[in-house]
Amino acid sequence: MAEVLVVVEGSVKKVTLELLTIARTLGSPSAVVFGDVDQAKLAEYGAEKIYVAEASDYLVAPKATVVASLVRQKQPAAVLLGSTQEGKEIAGRLAVKLDNGLLTDAVEVAADGTATQVAFAGSTIVKSKVTKGLPIVTIRPNSVTPEPSAATPAVEQVTAELSEADKLTKVVERVTETKGSRPELTEAGVVVSGGRGVGNADNFKLVEELADLLGGAVGASRAAVDSGFYPHQFQVGQTGKTVSPQLYVALGISGAIQHRAGMQTSKTIVAVNKDPEAPIFELADYGVVGDLFKVVPQAADEIRKR
Ligand code: FAD
Repeated sequence: MAEVLVVVEGSVKKVTLELLTIARTLGSPSAVVFGDVDQAKLAEYGAEKIYVAEASDYLVAPKATVVASLVRQKQPAAVLLGSTQEGKEIAGRLAVKLDNGLLTDAVEVAADGTATQVAFAGSTIVKSKVTKGLPIVTIRPNSVTPEPSAATPAVEQVTAELSEADKLTKVVERVTETKGSRPELTEAGVVVSGGRGVGNADNFKLVEELADLLGGAVGASRAAVDSGFYPHQFQVGQTGKTVSPQLYVALGISGAIQHRAGMQTSKTIVAVNKDPEAPIFELADYGVVGDLFKVVPQAADEIRKR
């Protein structure tokens, strides 16, 4: 069966397991890892091979060089990466190095390499194929449910000749973000986001409380972030993070196109807004027209009872 490379940017995350699940439908998954990662987890989700580049201090450019060199050697059927900031940057550089086509933000890849992308607030489904080279595709986190399928991977060390440009930078220190107990925003199965309607930073406790009850992450609209209600790293949208959870709850968010760009592929969207004309209701699967300060505590009480 043809080999499908799955690029593991750093540690093994949920998106890595999703990529392995998709890769299994396309061929035989091979994970490309940089440095020491949880190889047992990769095996549990079906990695038949693990290519280890001993380079945990690599930034994006040398990672792209390693993957490009592997593609030239192994001639895989496809390369899959997460649609994360780093995944997309590696993918872009890889496509340039190989003079190859690239598809980003796919939610599905068919066995023939056709990628499905969702555009314009979910109203348009685009099916695209790379016409030059092999399919290099970045996949949105939470597009599929990761399914285990045990394998016994062969492990192979890989090295690649780095260019002078690749050697200009390296990681000297990693500072781990304090994440608390909440899941990472782009990986979470549930995201509860607050907008300007939340009113102030203190009221965001209400958003956090609902998120915690649902085991989810907290997001925010740009208006909420710009108003200082919540830190910038939690912004969802065109100029923030892209999320695609099973459940997205929008509290006091109008649903501007730039916000939708970051959450429109969520599986189920619930909106609470006091304005029945708010555009978010065009997108929502379930809408509550009401004051979030009344609706959210009631919803939280109900959830606590269950
Ligand atoms: P508003 O539009 O002010 O909406 C607040 C909503 O809260 C209203 O619908 C109101 O009815 C409701 N509300 C008020 N009080 C209550 C209450 N008590 N109970 C229930 N509902 C209530 N935006 C993003 O979010 N992410 C981005 O990445 C992003 N990138 C952008 C990039 C560019 C280039 C530009 C130009 C804009 C970008 N924006 C982005 C901004 C975007 O256009 C909107 O301004 C922003 O999304 C609005 O945020 P909001 O919905 O929280 O605020």
